[in-house]
Amino acid sequence: MSDYIVRATAANNQIRAFAATTKEMVEHARTAHNTSPVATAALGRLMSAGAMMGIMMKGDKDILTLQIQCSGPIGGITVTADSKGNVKGYVNNPNVLLHANAKGKLDVGGALDMGVLSVIKDLGLKEPYVGQVELKTGEIGDDLTYYFASSEQVPSAVGLGVLMDKGNTVRRAGGFIVQLMPFAEESVIVQLEKNLAEITSVTSLLDQDYTPEMILEKLLGNLDMEIKETVPTQFYCNCDKDRVSKALISIGERELRALIRGGKEIELNCHFCNTNYNFTVEELKELYRRAR
Ligand code: ZN
Repeated sequence: MSDYIVRATAANNQIRAFAATTKEMVEHARTAHNTSPVATAALGRLMSAGAMMGIMMKGDKDILTLQIQCSGPIGGITVTADSKGNVKGYVNNPNVLLHANAKGKLDVGGALDMGVLSVIKDLGLKEPYVGQVELKTGEIGDDLTYYFASSEQVPSAVGLGVLMDKGNTVRRAGGFIVQLMPFAEESVIVQLEKNLAEITSVTSLLDQDYTPEMILEKLLGNLDMEIKETVPTQFYCNCDKDRVSKALISIGERELRALIRGGKEIELNCHFCNTNYNFTVEELKELYRRAR
């Protein structure tokens, strides 16, 4: 089954909601970056959120970046998503290994520890929108809930989960985001809170093979839910040799000349998908000609 996001509304548009299954995406990231289990969980949770937050944007060319800089051993996480379900991301230290937390789960909060979450939206305006909050628990779902409430003033519930198999491949990944619109009535809020209280963890729902539709049904089934659309989502990096060449040209003549004088083939790495690009001295000379 391929990954997808379901977008829904409920209670006559007083609630908007998203749920996603992202197993293939997270497994792709795990393979590309060779991430440890706790790094896979951290990256997978942020990528799942990025996928859903990406499709909240309206413009075809809008780009969302979620960035965590933190003091824990993972160092940081960067995720970028577009408005069509394409997501890419990486962690600073993919090898981080930690014991399970007190609940016997992968200790994402321990891997992140203290830090800052930045939400950057490039909506094609002069300046990108930037929202920033301190990490609350470092479990990512909680941190995004806090971000939505404090930076966007939208009361939200965010649940994210990544489950690993015994062989450390990704068994299930996904999550949900539910948001209350400003005009939501008290009775709707009370019912939604009741529904949310019945969900102990997304991971346990994923473990019971809940699809995004089933998660939404559990959250909003008694609130006149309407499914609006289903959007495919995937790990996708738009890098290629031409883009990397342009980046190389942009470092300037002097630096290029220094590389050529070095007389060695160079290797550049795309952080997002971990692809290496090699440039021979001849190719560097060609780029030098283009740079001048
Ligand atoms: Zn790439």
